[in-house]
Amino acid sequence: MSRIIIAGGGLSGSLAALALARRRPRTELLLVEQGETFGGNHTWSFFESDVPPKVRWVLQGVEATHWPAHEVHFPRRSRKIDVGYTGIRSIHLDDAVRAGLRPEQFRLNARIQAVEPCAITLDGETIEADAVIDARGPSSMSGLELGWQKFVGRYYRFPRPHGMSLPIIMDATVEQVDGYRFIYQLPVSPTDLLIEDTYYSRTPVLDQAALRGRIDQLAMRLGGGSPEVLDEESGVLPIVLGGDVETLWRSGQVARLGLRGGFFHPTTSYSLPDAVANAALLAQQDELTSEALHAVFHKRAQQLWQDRAFFRLLNRMLFYAAEPDQAYRVLEHFYRLPPAVISRFYAAQLSGFDKVRIFSGKPPVSIGRALSALRRSAA
Ligand SMILES: Cc1cc2nc3c(=O)[nH]c(=O)nc-3n(C[C@H](O)[C@H](O)[C@H](O)COP(=O)(O)OP(=O)(O)OC[C@H]3O[C@@H](n4cnc5c(N)ncnc54)[C@H](O)[C@@H]3O)c2cc1C
Repeated sequence: MSRIIIAGGGLSGSLAALALARRRPRTELLLVEQGETFGGNHTWSFFESDVPPKVRWVLQGVEATHWPAHEVHFPRRSRKIDVGYTGIRSIHLDDAVRAGLRPEQFRLNARIQAVEPCAITLDGETIEADAVIDARGPSSMSGLELGWQKFVGRYYRFPRPHGMSLPIIMDATVEQVDGYRFIYQLPVSPTDLLIEDTYYSRTPVLDQAALRGRIDQLAMRLGGGSPEVLDEESGVLPIVLGGDVETLWRSGQVARLGLRGGFFHPTTSYSLPDAVANAALLAQQDELTSEALHAVFHKRAQQLWQDRAFFRLLNRMLFYAAEPDQAYRVLEHFYRLPPAVISRFYAAQLSGFDKVRIFSGKPPVSIGRALSALRRSAA
């Protein structure tokens, strides 16, 4: 019987623990989280096609909201795309972990001081295991060339129905500020709506007050009456332009999951699909030792880094090939493609032909700038 410690009960650590508890019930498991709850305060969303049917079981028992389609809006293109979309709130991940693990399998309010391949230090006490998995969220990403996706989102409750039924993943008809900017809206019920103001930027500095003001104004204009604010979330997510994923894996021989191991989509920063796939992969390992798990997930991070080079190139286009107020044209051009290609883009499963199609057609930005963006620190 193996003893596994998962350091960090956020998205990737919680899903890994749930998968082990379900598929490897004889494993002695300990999930350690510094917060009072699992998962922090997020709404994680993903497209239907991001999570293949064979790994869906990982999300069983986690309450979710599903929509059959979603919309995008640009100055010269609006589309309803018949690809389903799902949203999961942290509170429901927390419920699932508490229901899925036995009390002795987790600790909350427990800040880990040190992580080693076969031990963690907690309040001066050392707890040993056959393997420790580090899922403590983002660490220093100094070896990566990054841009940022920044947002503030607010959950509003309207006195009357707001009238929206499908998520709007990107509404880029708004004023462009700093870089590619769009509004994201999730109608979680006829009267409740999440509105996020999101933009891509060269700096991680987030002016929360300004974004809050903008989404409040938008909410007031929706026609459901004066809304009450139920909750707020914000994020500054990495968009990878170049560098080397090895820098995330340089220190120590500890297996990593989630953002800490570089497991996220380079263009959207979504990490839920990778977290689900990794949890399933973990549960099917024969050897649950620190050496074996480090080798499996390190190799997977290297492989994904190699497979996803195209997305880093696309990111450089988004950041360098257009003036910040014109960057939306890259996405507007992309959204002319069929739903199947769009789905494969979000699932980071593009074929060679898909990649050609993305760059075909009338270029959305100047060719000279595009070529110089492509030449920049390609990695
Ligand atoms: C508001 C927000 C919305 C997002 N929306 C989406 C989305 O829609 N879809 C998507 O796929 N991605 C989304 N992301 C991006 C990404 O999926 C999340 O950031 C995701 O939570 C990352 O998972 P993780 O497990 O790597 O890190 P986290 O979920 O951040 O988990 C790390 C955990 O480790 C704990 N921890 C850290 N240090 C210690 C310590 N020393 N001791 C004990 N515990 C520790 C933290 O408290 C935290 O709970 C979003 C991010 C944010 C911020």
